[in-house]
Amino acid sequence: MPELPEVETVRRGLAQAMEGRRIEEIEVRRRDLRFPVPADFADRLRGQTLLSLSRRAKYLVGTFDDDTVLLAHLGMSGRMVIETAEDLNMPGRFEHGTAAHDAHEHIVFRVGNGTIIRFSDPRRFGMMLLTDKSAYPSHRLIRHLGPEPTGEDFTGPVLAARLKGKKTPIKSALLNQRVVAGIGNIYACEALFAAGISPRRSAATVQGGRAVRLADAVRAVLARAIDAGGSSLRDHVAPTGELGYFQHSFSVYGREGEPCPGCDCGKSVQRITQSGRSTFLCAKRQR
Ligand SMILES: [Zn+2]
Repeated sequence: MPELPEVETVRRGLAQAMEGRRIEEIEVRRRDLRFPVPADFADRLRGQTLLSLSRRAKYLVGTFDDDTVLLAHLGMSGRMVIETAEDLNMPGRFEHGTAAHDAHEHIVFRVGNGTIIRFSDPRRFGMMLLTDKSAYPSHRLIRHLGPEPTGEDFTGPVLAARLKGKKTPIKSALLNQRVVAGIGNIYACEALFAAGISPRRSAATVQGGRAVRLADAVRAVLARAIDAGGSSLRDHVAPTGELGYFQHSFSVYGREGEPCPGCDCGKSVQRITQSGRSTFLCAKRQR
């Protein structure tokens, strides 16, 4: 499943390919994604120019010149493939233009300079919806989202205010989209390890200096992963044209039984289950 850093990497790649360009052609092959693709999707976007592509939590947010807003999510298995005009001239490779590469390719865009962008999603938990600039802030998928965890605005006091009175474990609170938007299981584990905070600790007790440490750790682990994605994205597109999936090395995530990497506790990384999801931790370091 793409986590926030992958989504940000996809955003950067797509922005390079699409910002300032006119949508010349759109094909919608399947509408039954997580939410149905609107019937007028292609008609509303054809001929519009994408002014900007931003990100809110794990949503991609495209703003067009007539104030239409595209709200896209990669779901569990969504991928974006970019084919530049140069790729398309390579004999034998993309000679069939926008024709589908496979059965999971649901939406295809062709933009002004001939670049083709393919959205494929085998599990169809992804989505592409339309709204407009004035309705966007109160959109039902957007309005409840907590602060963005990547920006300078995500500080200890901001996090502490969100955690006040919350009796759930801090690990669960970090996964709550109303507390902070877009942190998945992997980065919740990594940030708690980096901050030395036990995932079992009551969220309400993460205040003051502890909240500052955790907010700093969240921003740092996400920034590191986004940097890794950016550097894996040489010339903005992987050789296959596929954006956004890359291998990270994590400190504790997926490392049950391996020596603790962060302290000289001499113990190994433990795995526990919280709310049905795995948490990886060092029980000595994280209090
Ligand atoms: Zn340790």
